[in-house]
Amino acid sequence: MTRPPSGRAEEIADGVYAFVQPDGSWMINNSGFVVGRSGVLCIDTCATERRTRHLLAAVADVTAAPVRTLVNTHHHPDHTAGNGFFPTATIVAHEQARPEMRALGLPGNDGIWSEVDYGEPELAPPFLTFTDRITVWADDLRCEVIHPGRTAHTTNDVVVWIPDRSVLFAGDLLFHGGTPFLLSGSVRGSIAVLEQFLAPLGATTIVPGHGPVCGPEVVDEVLAYLRFVLAVAAEGRAEGLSPLDLARRTDLGRFAAWTDAERIVGNLHRAYAEESGAPLDPAAAFADMVAYNGGRPLRCLA
Ligand SMILES: [Zn+2]
Repeated sequence: MTRPPSGRAEEIADGVYAFVQPDGSWMINNSGFVVGRSGVLCIDTCATERRTRHLLAAVADVTAAPVRTLVNTHHHPDHTAGNGFFPTATIVAHEQARPEMRALGLPGNDGIWSEVDYGEPELAPPFLTFTDRITVWADDLRCEVIHPGRTAHTTNDVVVWIPDRSVLFAGDLLFHGGTPFLLSGSVRGSIAVLEQFLAPLGATTIVPGHGPVCGPEVVDEVLAYLRFVLAVAAEGRAEGLSPLDLARRTDLGRFAAWTDAERIVGNLHRAYAEESGAPLDPAAAFADMVAYNGGRPLRCLA
């Protein structure tokens, strides 16, 4: 299996960098950093030790200043597994990210995804947590770290909004070129957050959680997919189909071109649970995703 090249830092505004990792598929996320004279604010780490060390090298290429603050946009391991490689940083996240991260633990080879060399990460949960919003400063540049107020991609999503540069680090509230994944969040919550919180910020430049840097047009694309999931789920529930059977007969149309199309199965599990109020079994949802994938582990190139 050919693994994509490691990430690359792009200066998207004065002193503001996106660390974009192609191809944005499973476990291949984006990070970013904001450079001040005496310290760096970093946004998210990577899934593996190797990828996180590339991120650290990209920071060191730009500045000799230490990473003083690390913000996790949510608890998922592709964004947080590398936290332990930031010994000088205060690790900041939403209050709910800490217990979720501890419950999930570090990623390992469990047969759901194809084999990955994760290196030797250490679980390093955030130790400065908040519920609504905080502001981190990079010199005089205001970086607003905001929880949108409800469950969307996860219970603990936060964005980093830099109004003076009109730059938004959206975390996994936005995927660009990859299939959004709502299994640990809410389909309806994601729609509400994109419509009522993220779009009104009016960001010109957006660093999505996965995929190339983009503008606000990607919000509409993700919203179209989320509404598609709800519509498909409503039909399937009316016909009494399981999420897996429903996914198998669903034509994804233009969304089939996005990476990790099998996420439709997990997303339908989430939509069913949301509409019926029944509890969701994540292990069963992942097993169904593997079944949808012909019984093979999901393609992971991290
Ligand atoms: Zn995520």
